[in-house]
Amino acid sequence: MKTFSEVLGEARPNRVAIGHFNVSDLAGLKAVFESARELRLPVIVGLSEGERAFMRVRLAAAATKVLRDEYDYPIFLNADHTHSLASAEEAARAGYDSTVFDRSELPFAQNVSETKRAVEALKAINPSMLIEGEIGEIGTGSEIHEEALQGLRLTTPDEARDFASATGIDILAPAVGNTHGLSRSMIRGEVQKRLDIDRIAEISKATGLFMTLHGASGTNDEDLRRAIQAGITEIHIDTEVRLAWRRGLETAFTSEPDQVVPYKLLLAAVKAMKQVVSARLSLFSGKQDIATHG
Ligand SMILES: [Zn+2]
Repeated sequence: MKTFSEVLGEARPNRVAIGHFNVSDLAGLKAVFESARELRLPVIVGLSEGERAFMRVRLAAAATKVLRDEYDYPIFLNADHTHSLASAEEAARAGYDSTVFDRSELPFAQNVSETKRAVEALKAINPSMLIEGEIGEIGTGSEIHEEALQGLRLTTPDEARDFASATGIDILAPAVGNTHGLSRSMIRGEVQKRLDIDRIAEISKATGLFMTLHGASGTNDEDLRRAIQAGITEIHIDTEVRLAWRRGLETAFTSEPDQVVPYKLLLAAVKAMKQVVSARLSLFSGKQDIATHG
């Protein structure tokens, strides 16, 4: 089976991106895995520090490994937005394929020194773990916000190059118009996030690194296609899946008021999450026709 690094390495020349979806539990994992498998696409499951605290760091790793081994399937596990080295080390020891070591809230020099230290420490535990670093502002919280975030500081190609060479990261998370979460206007379909495609191309050229687009929920589809052409190799979708989960459950509770069997109710959430995951995976891989017609 291909390693995560090999899968990302193939994504770049093929001009596709690997989808990354956050999960909190086995229902989420089931939805992501089944969607990917139906489309025969590699996929990344991510857990933030909060999600890992809920599901347990090693339990998430074990569950993902079962699917990977049983189906010989390229499903990878990411320790998303990790703010302390201890937490990242715990994920490295548990066998996570990658981590987003996120110290982007610090001044640049401090972000560089802490990220560099994390790369060294994590590679010492697991040399094949990929380390992602983040610069610029993309907001926190994959939640529903009253207003769309504005005026966030975007990543420049120069700082991206300096950050990449000083830290030794494998993957860069830039700020290129992407933001975590969805505003109410985005949920109503009135507003979409728009990306700075030229900036993505310049950062890709300046660093030569794999690049992750965080906070892609609610982004214009054509911008996502162009971002992949410009060098994005991994795309994170979280809030759209969370919204589908909630709506799926609400529908189930409303239509079956006497139902108390958890897995029967949860299937509605799984089904709703799968619709989002499948549509996004199809877009990222250029397999749209399958999602639309199949
Ligand atoms: Zn993120």
